[in-house]
Amino acid sequence: METSWHDHTLAIHAGEAPDPVTGASSPNLVMSTTFAAGADIAFSAEAASQEMPFVYTRWGNPTVRQLEQKIAALEHAPDAVALASGMAAFFALAMQLIRSGDRVVLSDVTYAAVSETANEWLVNLGLEVVRVDASDLDALRRAVTPQTKWVHIETPCNPLLRLTDIKEAAQIAHRAGAVLSVDSTFATSLATRPLELGADYVIHSLTKYICGHGDALGGVIAGSAELIEPIRRKSLIRTGGALSPFNAWLILRGAATLPLRMKQHEANALQIARYLEGHPAVKRVIYPGLASHPQYELAKRQMHNFSGMLTFEVKGDGIAQAYRFAEKLRVIHYAVSLGHHRSLLFYLPSQALLATTFHLDAAQLASWKKFAGEGIFRFSVGLEDPEDVIADLEQSFL
Ligand SMILES: *Cc1c(COP(=O)(O)O)cnc(C)c1O
Repeated sequence: METSWHDHTLAIHAGEAPDPVTGASSPNLVMSTTFAAGADIAFSAEAASQEMPFVYTRWGNPTVRQLEQKIAALEHAPDAVALASGMAAFFALAMQLIRSGDRVVLSDVTYAAVSETANEWLVNLGLEVVRVDASDLDALRRAVTPQTKWVHIETPCNPLLRLTDIKEAAQIAHRAGAVLSVDSTFATSLATRPLELGADYVIHSLTKYICGHGDALGGVIAGSAELIEPIRRKSLIRTGGALSPFNAWLILRGAATLPLRMKQHEANALQIARYLEGHPAVKRVIYPGLASHPQYELAKRQMHNFSGMLTFEVKGDGIAQAYRFAEKLRVIHYAVSLGHHRSLLFYLPSQALLATTFHLDAAQLASWKKFAGEGIFRFSVGLEDPEDVIADLEQSFL
C-alpha cells in the first residue's frame, strides 16, 4: 500500500492485491476454518504471532485480514482487528482493559447495549463505573482521577448526536494515566480520525456505514500494533467473537465506496435537515452540519464530513407520529440501525430510554433534554434522491 494514497484510493485498494496464483483482481472469499500447517506451528494462540501463517479462522483469516488492513489504512492506524459485531468489538476491548477494582469513565450516553453493559456487567465484575457527560470537559476532568484506567466516549453519540472534543478528552485521559477509546461509528473514518487526535483505540460497528448496505454485522478496533496484538491474541481468540469471512467479504465490497457514499449521505442529510427545520410540525432538528447544532464550531473543527445522521423532535405527540410514520412511509423504512444506502427512521422516547438504559443525574438530564426533549426521531438519511425522501416525509406527517 502506498502511504501517499488518498481516501478513495485507500478505500478501493488498501488491503487488496491481485491473487498471486490466479491473478483474481477482487478479493477471494476464503471460508476455510483451518489451514494446512507445518509441524512447527504452536497449538496455543499464546505462542501466536502476526508473522505466523494462517492456522484457524478464529485466530485470523485471509479475507478478514484484508478487511482489517483496509480499515487500518482508512484510520491511518498501524493495525486493526475485526470482530463479529460492534458489540463484540466493545466487549473484546473491555476484556483486554479491565481488572476488578478499576475505575472506568464512560460517556453517559452511548450506544444502548454499551450503556447497559456498563450499568450491569461491568458493575457486577467489580468495576467502579462513572458516567459523565463527555461533551462537558470540566465534568470529564473531574471524573477522570488517577485511579481511572479507561475512558470510553462516542462522538457523535448515539442517539443524541452530541459531540466530544477528542483531542481534549485524550489529554484528560492521558494526564491521569488512562487510555481513551472512541466509538467513531457515526462519524466514520472519513469524518474523523480519533487516533490522530490522540485516542488510543477507535471502534466501529462495521454493520453501519462501512458495510453500508445493511446485509452484514461486523465490528473493528484500530490502534497501534502493540495495543491491537494482545486484543487479537487474547480477547478475540478467547471470547470467540470472530467475524465471518463471508461478512468480511461483503464489508470489503461496501467499504470500497465509503468515501463516495459519505459525500452523498452528507449532502442528502443537509438538504433534508434544512427541510425539516422549516417544517411547521417540527420543533427541533439536530444535525452537526447545521449552524443550529449546539456544538457547530466543534463539529466544523473535528468532522471533515457531517455524516448522514440527524434527529428531530416534533411539536405534537411523538408516539402518535411514530405510528403514523410506521404506517405511511414508503421510501424510508421505519426500522432500527443506520448507515445503510436505504433511509431508516426510528422513534426514541426519552422517558423509556432513561428508565431502561441511561441513568442520568440532574445536570446530565438537562443536557439530554437539550438534545432530545421528550423524544426524537433518529433518521439515518440514505442515498435515495432527497426529493423522494422529502415527499415521503411530507405525506407522513400528522
Ligand atoms: C450499532 C452500534 C454499535 C453496535 O454495533 P453492532 O454491530 O450492532 O454490534 C456500537 N456503537 C454504535 C455507535 C452503534 O451505532
